[in-house]
Amino acid sequence: IIIGMVAGISAGGLLQWILPKDGDLIIPLYFFDFSIRGVFVDFFFEVGGQIFISSLKMLVVPLVFVSLICGTCSISDTSKLGQIGGRAVGLYLITTAIAISLAMTIAILIAPGEGVNMTSDATYTAKEAPSLAKVFIDMFPSNPFAAFTEGNMLQIIVFALLFGIAMALSGEAGERVAAVFEDLNEVIMRLVTILMNLAPYGVFCLLAKTFTDLPLGELLSLAYYFMVVFGVLLIHALVTYPVILKALTGLNPLIFLRKMRETAIFAFSTSSSNATIPVTLETVTKKMGVKNSIASFTVPLGATINMDGTAIMQGVATVFIAQVFNVDLTITDYLMVILTATLASIGTAGVPGVGLIMLAMVLNQVGLPVEGIALIIGVDRLLDMTRTAVNVTGDSMVSVIVGKSVDGFDEQVFNDRDAAKKDE
Ligand code: ASP
Repeated sequence: IIIGMVAGISAGGLLQWILPKDGDLIIPLYFFDFSIRGVFVDFFFEVGGQIFISSLKMLVVPLVFVSLICGTCSISDTSKLGQIGGRAVGLYLITTAIAISLAMTIAILIAPGEGVNMTSDATYTAKEAPSLAKVFIDMFPSNPFAAFTEGNMLQIIVFALLFGIAMALSGEAGERVAAVFEDLNEVIMRLVTILMNLAPYGVFCLLAKTFTDLPLGELLSLAYYFMVVFGVLLIHALVTYPVILKALTGLNPLIFLRKMRETAIFAFSTSSSNATIPVTLETVTKKMGVKNSIASFTVPLGATINMDGTAIMQGVATVFIAQVFNVDLTITDYLMVILTATLASIGTAGVPGVGLIMLAMVLNQVGLPVEGIALIIGVDRLLDMTRTAVNVTGDSMVSVIVGKSVDGFDEQVFNDRDAAKKDE
């Protein structure tokens, strides 16, 4: 997977360099014109990448539903379920608030937007932020099949939890159904493993395509903003997470980061915490030793409500836009930003580019011009990829912490270098 990533980035970069967007190389053949871009970028890379991403997404809904049902009915004690839920949600919200506070502090100190005088004719229309009441109401599906077809993760989680609890309370009938779900879970996890074998090619195609189309010119003009977001993302992943993990569990953070590597590359190449769920779940259970009963709940929940990387982008972007438009934010505004960004992450799914929609809500909240988003949209693709890698790292860390705190964790597996290989 790492080779796939490096090769994909190099191939994309190379193609971008020798064949800029408007400078395709056309080889006239006898019957038709052979376009290098058309064949490699728009056909091979696009087809390979999209098939790979669709196959990953295909597994998400059945996997979350089946594994969460197995997880719930194996913890028949509902007070323990409440404990797991409370700790996971609490940690997700706290880490997001830490992330955005860190981002704003660094952005205020470095001031990436000072002296920048940018105007843009592009416009950006903000969506309304959902009210907290609506977020809660929307968690409950009125039609579970609609939730499945839309891939609405929170609704699927709620339905699976209720279904699992009912199964645990249904005696023999529940046990029979549980046996079927256990078997289904095995089969779906096997499908995940099969797909993982194709992952290097998928990652290669996705990254080659992305890097061929990346607007490098915009990247240069917004280098300062880009570097600040990128830097804070790195600090959060390599300093904040290790410190929290060590402090709360005593586990070795280096092992955690090493085992996270491939999952982070998946997130980076797909830009979607949701599509990465199958991989995150596999890593957290098989490589890190968190029991399926915990991980099947914390991982999909995290993919939906925990977005530390996204919060970091929002923190830096808010400060940047305020500086570009010469608006002074007060302490209350900053607190408002932290609150809105943290709450906005609950109601929005982990899919590509959703961070910008959330940013629009935050800007609205503190009265900053939403058009500011048009300034940074050009470099958002690469930042989206990077922050998604941070998002899934946060989901995995919280899963380990919660697992360890409720006895749902096998430290031997965590410390074992080759844990996942043995299992295969
Ligand atoms: N792509 C991110 C994710 O899936 C969300 C975002 O920041 O846009 O986690």
